[in-house]
Amino acid sequence: MKIAGQGALVTGASRGLGRALAEQLAAAGARVALVARDPRPLEEGCRCAACRRFSRAYVRHLVNQEELLGLRLLSLHNLHFLFQLTAGARAAIERGEFAHYTAAALDRLAAGPQEDRWPS
Ligand SMILES: [Zn+2]
Repeated sequence: MKIAGQGALVTGASRGLGRALAEQLAAAGARVALVARDPRPLEEGCRCAACRRFSRAYVRHLVNQEELLGLRLLSLHNLHFLFQLTAGARAAIERGEFAHYTAAALDRLAAGPQEDRWPS
């Protein structure tokens, strides 16, 4: 199984087996995201209500406990992302740069979130 370049979401990687697994995946070239105790927002730099007020760890906790607030926060973040994406597209169309905007947006999406690479 090819690990290099694959994404892995590891919860509970602060110590023990989870940490050893995360280190091995990172050493093998996987993109490793750690979220269990992550105090950062869902997306660094995002200005949505969920990212301004809640940490990844808290949202993860809510989702794991099947609290509807967790799903609402994820929806808020996702809708904010889509609004920003379409606002950028609208502005690019007005400037006559839609092809450039589309190519840049697709490159960013294909690269994934840079801050989630581990170790940083
Ligand atoms: Zn957000």
